[in-house]
Amino acid sequence: MQPGQFSGSYPLFRFFDIRVYLHWSWFIMAAVLVELRTKQMGMIWQQALLEVLALFGIVLLHEFGHALACKSVGGEAKTIVLWPLGGVAFVKPPQRPWPVLWSLVAGPLVNVVLVPVTYVLMASTDHELARAMFLINFVLLIFNMLPFYPLDGGQILQTILWMMMNRWRAMQAASAIGVAGAIALAVLGFNFGQYFLIFMAFFVGSQAMEGFRVARELAEAERRLGGPIPPVDAS
Ligand SMILES: [Zn+2]
Repeated sequence: MQPGQFSGSYPLFRFFDIRVYLHWSWFIMAAVLVELRTKQMGMIWQQALLEVLALFGIVLLHEFGHALACKSVGGEAKTIVLWPLGGVAFVKPPQRPWPVLWSLVAGPLVNVVLVPVTYVLMASTDHELARAMFLINFVLLIFNMLPFYPLDGGQILQTILWMMMNRWRAMQAASAIGVAGAIALAVLGFNFGQYFLIFMAFFVGSQAMEGFRVARELAEAERRLGGPIPPVDAS
């Protein structure tokens, strides 16, 4: 995915030389969430809004995990965009399996660290918002680790496969699993009337199909070179 796909994003702030942008569609998601929570669950809107902001904060920390990990191995990370399906950290780690793997793992690792943190907060305050933060973080972690490319779990799987085979074959395998995952998400979404899952299935499916195209390009480049593409560093 390219930053150009996120036109209509507004700059929020800059931290560690990483610019954080918010896509306009995020406000629609926030409004829909607040509406759902207040109408269907009888929650006061202030509480619903705090939950949306908690979601925003947790996603942001996750993306900074990716971006700072990428910088720590000499890669480039300049942009984070937050949008309704979470966030995207545009990272360019050195193109070798370990730096790529570290940049990927660091995002979900933030959520792993947040599990005991939010648990202690929830147990000690017994506050509704603390409970929501624990749940939001936990669900994000589980969802992110599904092995469906381009979700983090799928990209991690692809990188582990890359350590064992050609990069393009690893990409192809991860994309195939991504497409299968998208179909599963769509079936679940339609079955339970969960629009978010259907939206997610469409995103995962289209990006996984794009993965096949990237795999073909990598294979093509390899054929031209007459052997595996030598690893290149981003910086
Ligand atoms: Zn991530």
